[in-house]
Amino acid sequence: MQDKRMRLLSNIVIAYMLVAFAWWSVLLFVKNRDAFNAKSEYLQIVMVAEGNVDTREEFYKSDIYKSLAKEYERQEWMIFGEATFFIISLILGIWLINRGYRNAMFAAQQRRNFLLSITHELKSPIASIRLAFETIFRRDLDKEKVNMLSTSGIKESDRLNDLVNNLLLAAKVESAYQPVMESLDLNLLFTETIDRLTEKYPSANLSLEFNLNEGEFEGDDFGIRSIVINLIENAIKYSPDPANVELETGIDDNQLFLYIKDEGYGIPPSERKRIFDQFYRIGNEDTRRAKGTGLGLFIVQRVVNAHDGKINVLSNSPKGTRFEIFFPRKRFTERKATISNNKS
Ligand code: ADP
Repeated sequence: MQDKRMRLLSNIVIAYMLVAFAWWSVLLFVKNRDAFNAKSEYLQIVMVAEGNVDTREEFYKSDIYKSLAKEYERQEWMIFGEATFFIISLILGIWLINRGYRNAMFAAQQRRNFLLSITHELKSPIASIRLAFETIFRRDLDKEKVNMLSTSGIKESDRLNDLVNNLLLAAKVESAYQPVMESLDLNLLFTETIDRLTEKYPSANLSLEFNLNEGEFEGDDFGIRSIVINLIENAIKYSPDPANVELETGIDDNQLFLYIKDEGYGIPPSERKRIFDQFYRIGNEDTRRAKGTGLGLFIVQRVVNAHDGKINVLSNSPKGTRFEIFFPRKRFTERKATISNNKS
């Protein structure tokens, strides 16, 4: 409210400045013309008195009048130029201030949404874990029930752990993310991640098409895993159940590519730039129903950049979304003794 009032007040002051300046410009024009008329009349009287000219027409043809008229015209252009420049700068300034204000409001709204969603995301697993413990504690349950409740408790604590890891990584990539580069076995890394996610989302159909020869990728284990986890989890979250998701990797055009394809709700082209912003979530009912913090793609983009890679988002065919990541070919070293392709 306070903000709105301040904005209204500053708009009134700016509008007053614009009108006042336009008015002063008109006045300046009028005064300049009056000064010119007075000066030329005075000159005419002097010249007639001195016998230099006889008639008004002769005065208008004289060099003195011509240079006076030229000077007047020059001053008029000067006033016009200055006024136009000032008004344009003022309008540009107002536009920049308003744009900054809108961006600040948008960022504040995003932060509020983030706090609401994060509170919910933290509270729901904590409540589930507490409920599981309470049930085990209060009732005399058979072993099977206890196992079931314990498994659910472990799953919820894993969910909490993933969330906290994502939050920590988001904080890290925002300021000082230093990837720890090591030799990674991508086949193992992808297979392990997909197995873990299949356990977490049993109804989803996750597949891996691995078109790389055996070799080592130079990258940050935690970073690359979080890229794959975030993109696959998004693909599952933003697809109707059961989700079909494919992770494809290979070498093309001297680059190592990683495609994550789903057949979900898709991302409208107008949103594709903003989805990588911190806390940004598409305000579309299909996708808003899913829980989230707006941090996943922000992390993914930062980690990809830290590996000198680039990321694009496209439509998948016939529907859904396709994320494409490209890393420089030099990050991948093939093992010389390889005989067969490793596919899974
Ligand atoms: P969130 O925690 O909301 O999932 P992200 O940064 O991972 O945050 O994604 C930002 C937004 O991009 C999401 O809120 C969602 O609207 C959209 N999005 C991301 N991935 C997909 C996808 N595979 N399909 C459809 N929409 C997606």
